[in-house]
Amino acid sequence: MFSFAEIILPLPLYGTYTYHVPEELNAKIKIGCRVLVQFGQKKYYTGIVYTLHNNKPEDFVTKDIEDLLDDYPILRYPQLKLWDWISDYYLCSLGDVFKAAIPAGLKIESETEVRINPDFEVMQDENLKERELIVLDFVSSRDSVKIIDIEKATGFKNLATIVMRLIEQEAVFVNEKVINNYKPKIEVYVALCCDRGDETSVHSYFDLVRAYKKQETLLLTYLEMSHWMRKSDTKEILKKDLLSRSGITQQVLSTMIKKGIMRIYKKEINRFKLASMEIETLPTLSESQQKAYWDILDSYKEKNITLLHGVTSSGKTEIYINLISEMLRQKKQILYLVPEIALTTQLTYRLKRVFGEMLLIYHSKFSDNERVDIWKKLLKNGSPCIVLGVRSSVFLPFNNLGLVIVDEEHETSFKQQDPSPRYNARNVAMVLASMHGAKTLLGTATPSIDSYYNATHGKYALVELNERYEGIELPEVRVVDLKLARKRREMKGIFSPELLNVSRKALEEDKQVILFQNRRGYAPMVMCKECAWVPKCDNCDVSLTYHKYTNTLICHYCGFTYQLPQLCPSCKQPTLEIEGYGTERIEDDIETVFPDTPILRMDLDTTRNKNSYEKIIEDFSKGTSKILVGTQMVTKGLDFAGVKVVGVLNADSMINFPDFRSHERAFNMLEQVSGRAGRKDGRGVVVIQTSNPNHPVINYVLNHDYAGYYNNEIEEREYFKYPPFTKLINIYLKHRDDNVLTEVSVRYSNMLREVFGYRVLGPEAPMIARIQQLHIRQIVLKIENEASMLKVKKILRQVYENIIKVDSRMKSTILYYDVDPM
Ligand SMILES: [Zn+2]
Ligand SMILES: [Zn+2]
Repeated sequence: MFSFAEIILPLPLYGTYTYHVPEELNAKIKIGCRVLVQFGQKKYYTGIVYTLHNNKPEDFVTKDIEDLLDDYPILRYPQLKLWDWISDYYLCSLGDVFKAAIPAGLKIESETEVRINPDFEVMQDENLKERELIVLDFVSSRDSVKIIDIEKATGFKNLATIVMRLIEQEAVFVNEKVINNYKPKIEVYVALCCDRGDETSVHSYFDLVRAYKKQETLLLTYLEMSHWMRKSDTKEILKKDLLSRSGITQQVLSTMIKKGIMRIYKKEINRFKLASMEIETLPTLSESQQKAYWDILDSYKEKNITLLHGVTSSGKTEIYINLISEMLRQKKQILYLVPEIALTTQLTYRLKRVFGEMLLIYHSKFSDNERVDIWKKLLKNGSPCIVLGVRSSVFLPFNNLGLVIVDEEHETSFKQQDPSPRYNARNVAMVLASMHGAKTLLGTATPSIDSYYNATHGKYALVELNERYEGIELPEVRVVDLKLARKRREMKGIFSPELLNVSRKALEEDKQVILFQNRRGYAPMVMCKECAWVPKCDNCDVSLTYHKYTNTLICHYCGFTYQLPQLCPSCKQPTLEIEGYGTERIEDDIETVFPDTPILRMDLDTTRNKNSYEKIIEDFSKGTSKILVGTQMVTKGLDFAGVKVVGVLNADSMINFPDFRSHERAFNMLEQVSGRAGRKDGRGVVVIQTSNPNHPVINYVLNHDYAGYYNNEIEEREYFKYPPFTKLINIYLKHRDDNVLTEVSVRYSNMLREVFGYRVLGPEAPMIARIQQLHIRQIVLKIENEASMLKVKKILRQVYENIIKVDSRMKSTILYYDVDPM
């Protein structure tokens, strides 16, 4: 029996908070259970029990835990251990990890917003308690309402338990801005109260409704829709279909239910049901795939992590599928991590055909209820399954995890930039695997410098697969010198004649074209050609991107929208011109070149809804559309059989980005996007347009020379002491007042220098020095690999505590760490 509990709160606070365990909860409370606690003025939160103990705090009075929300822990061992590791390693609070780890439906707090599920039906057999019905009634009369406001209106206290029950019944949603994508799990049907063929009863029903026109209409519509007369053919009728066909309201139906004429019943439907799904057997492996498969299994005898370096189109997915199947045979669970939601779309069909119901998908485009569903499913039983997901799926309650596959391991999108925890899901997945005693497979055509270094220096095993699937050739890469083409006045807007020619030829052969530009919007900049005035964001130090579709200027950093002025505000002339090319403009321009060709665009603006990815990918896969214009979204491992040509419209911004990883990023992106060209019949062509045709990165891509690129890159990293030869921690300071920030950051960096010496670089203003009205300074800490990171982090916390004591302005300064920045 324990009297006190350490509670993790979903707040950016270091450490845990001590609460008193009331006697009635004493026997039931367990580590990993959710509790309801009060914190701050009148606010309550869902917290997680971190530890239980009997050490009464001496310097403060503890509050009671208000309520225990679970009979059983909602976390499984070793999840809390993983949370600890993340908070230690990435220098963030446990509360931040908690917030990132658990879906909103499992962490109700007073500020949580609740919405009614329009599809919800109250059934007689569900006996919702009176208070639950009152709350439901209140919520249904509003668009969305905060729990704290429901409490005020109803006078009920601690509504979390009630709301949680309503969430479980899918009567309400939480924190869902868009619910129109939600697919109900339950469908409601209507039936007559008598058996089929019981004409006597049907006649008596007609007698009962004779005087009521609407009821009669509804009854007739039902008989017609259900083919009642045919007797043999039982057709079930969805309630919503019946109501919409007959044009009769729910109230009329309710009356007929009360009269004992009709009844409604529910049926559970499978959310992941795919139409006309064929079951497939395991894919047969080619000789080289088979060898890689055995090499991987072999490597696990000695190493826990293996890097599979397979060129694009070498058929890594088939190898994964065979490994998954082997793991399932051993009754293990598998986590299959991909960097982009778009990839889950293509893989879902593939994996579903082989593994059926054992496949679970987890990402943020799913509604919160769907995510809670998967969480609970994994919690309930530890049966073998595959979870296909993005970053956040590393937080699921796995049990008996056997294998983690990190596909496209080089992708920077595995790293969460904002908010905290700034974790790298690839690295967390490896830690998760080791906690379960599971193996990890990192797969990619372009290994990250760090992973390849680890794989060639004994930390990981390395398996290489150099042969493309079914003998497909690597694409031919042609480089177009933009400077020369411009000088010769050959350019047609952003398109070189070379790119247009190969594209035209491909389209004539009924093949497809991908055009890649890493900028969304219509034009990245607007400028006055008289006085060079450029519209900038009021809140950030960036120029605004012009979006033609909405005819607005948008800040891509804070989302703020501005009207495009008619006249230049500076010189009052109608001389504003758009400069440069975003995906929207390229889509427009290519349409004028190939007017009758169906074109698709894939970028952040066209994929905001849950199903928009599916739609674009499906259309392009089927060949309905011939040209796909896109940002880096199109580079990430998508497979399209009909693509003959890939055009990189401007490689310069990628190459010239001032960062030690810019060559790595540029090589990966160019090599990956090239890999989209030429799948089956015929060699693909890649056209790279650049003003630096002789840049080494361009040359390595030209020859598909990973080894050359790696050797050059690793040499530079060693010389300039960058990862993997050192560890980096970026420290960011933010403040509204630039002067205060300058002084504070200099003082802070000097204090760091007293301890870390030359390892401290900065403070410097980053390239974008102000975002959302906050000025920014960056300090880089470069630490030798041999140094104890634990000690480094302890010192960092100490220095922060010291400066808080001597400089009060530090309290109004935001400070955070980015460990292993990407
Ligand atoms: Zn802005
Ligand atoms: Zn002007």
